[in-house]
Amino acid sequence: MLVIKNGRVMDPKSGWDQVCDVLVDEGKIIQIAPQIDKDEAQVIDATGLVVAPGLVDIHVHFREPGQTHKEDIHTGALAAAAGGFTTVVMMANTNPTISDVETLEEVLQSAAKEKINIKSVATITKNFNGQDLTDFKALLDAGAVGFSDDGIPLESSKVVKEAMEEAKKLNTFISLHEEDPGLNGTLGFNENIAKEHFHICGATGVAEYAMIARDVMIANATKAHVHIQHLSKEESVKVVEFAQNLGANVTAEVAPQHFSKTEALLLTKGSNAKMNPPLRLESDRRAVIEGLKSGVISVIATDHAPHHADEKNVEDITKAPSGMTGLETSLSLGLTYLVETGELSLMQLLEKMSYNPAKLYNFEAGYLSENGPADITIFDDKADRIVDSHFASKAANSPFIGESLKGQVKYTICNGQIVYKN
Ligand SMILES: [Zn+2]
Repeated sequence: MLVIKNGRVMDPKSGWDQVCDVLVDEGKIIQIAPQIDKDEAQVIDATGLVVAPGLVDIHVHFREPGQTHKEDIHTGALAAAAGGFTTVVMMANTNPTISDVETLEEVLQSAAKEKINIKSVATITKNFNGQDLTDFKALLDAGAVGFSDDGIPLESSKVVKEAMEEAKKLNTFISLHEEDPGLNGTLGFNENIAKEHFHICGATGVAEYAMIARDVMIANATKAHVHIQHLSKEESVKVVEFAQNLGANVTAEVAPQHFSKTEALLLTKGSNAKMNPPLRLESDRRAVIEGLKSGVISVIATDHAPHHADEKNVEDITKAPSGMTGLETSLSLGLTYLVETGELSLMQLLEKMSYNPAKLYNFEAGYLSENGPADITIFDDKADRIVDSHFASKAANSPFIGESLKGQVKYTICNGQIVYKN
C-alpha cells in the first residue's frame, strides 16, 4: 500500500487538476482525495511535484533480438522507467524482424519479465520485403498490438492498400514511416543543410509529404485507420489535416526532436543529430508545434533509437546510423520547448504523452482514476537539469547532452510498484 501525498494530481482524461493525495494498492488506484492517511502505507511526499499518468510511448526500438549491443529489452525498460514511461510499443525492425508468431512470442516473453508494460507491433510485410503481408490475424492473436514496417517505407501502393484493408477487417491499424526512397537522397540530412554544408543530396521534404499524401488518400478510400509516424515537414502537417478534414481516419505523431531542434544541430552535434526523418527547418519546427496545438498531431512519440558509440563515431558521418536515444529526454523536451514557451499547457502535453497514445491502442493506461491502473509518473516540472551522458539506456547517442532542460522525473510507478526513483 502506497500513499502519494500532496502532489498536483493531473489527469488529462477527466481534466482533474488539484493538489491532493492518491492511495495505491495491489496495482490499482484505490482513492484520490484531499487527505488520505493510512498508518500501514508507504508514503511518497509529492509536495511541489506533478502526479501524472504513467507516460506512454508508442514508438521505441529496443533492438532485441539481434542488436543487443545497442540496447536490449531490459535496458530499454530501465530507460523508459527513468523517463517516466510505464507503457511502450516496440517497433519490429529487430534481427530477425518481428514478422512471425515465433519471434513475436520470444520478444513478448522477454518483455514480460520487465516491470513496465512493453507491447510490440509486428511487421506489415514479411522481413520488410515490401511485398508479402505477414499473417495479421495470427500475429494479433499472439499479442501484436498493431503493424509497422518502421524504418523501411512501403513503396508499393498496392501493398499499402492491401495492408489497410486487412487491418480494417481485423479492427486494427497500420503505422507508416513515410520517406519515399524514389524521391530521396542521403538519409538523415535535411536537403538544405545537406547541399549547403555537406555537399550531398539529402533527405527531401517531398519524399515525406508525397508519400503521406498517397497513403492518407488510400486510407480515405479504404476507410481504414492509418497512423503517420514521426512527421517532420510543414507540408506533412497540412496533408494530414486535409485528409482528416475529408473524414479519413488518420492520426499522427511527432518526435520531441522535431519540435525542439532544426537541421543546424548537425553542425554542433554531428552524427548524434542524424535521424530519419531528419531535423528540418525552423518553419517545419513551427508547423509541427502548430499541428500539436490544433490537434492534427495527437501523439508525441520518441522514436527511441539507441546506437553504440562506435557506430555513431565514424569518420564519414554519412555512414553513421540514424536515430537517437530518446526516452530519457522526452518529457524534458516537452516541458522546455512546448510548455515553458507557452505553446501547450502542461495538461495538453500530458494528454499527448499519455492519454492520447493509450487511447490510440486501447490500452488500459494514460489516465488517473479510482479503480484505474496504478501507472503513475511523479515529476518536478520546474526543476532545471543539465542532460549528462549517464543514461539508463545502453546508448548515449543524444544530441541533447550538455543542454539545460526543464523537468526531472522523481518516481515512476508501474502496476503499483516503484520502478524508478531519483
Ligand atoms: Zn521511423
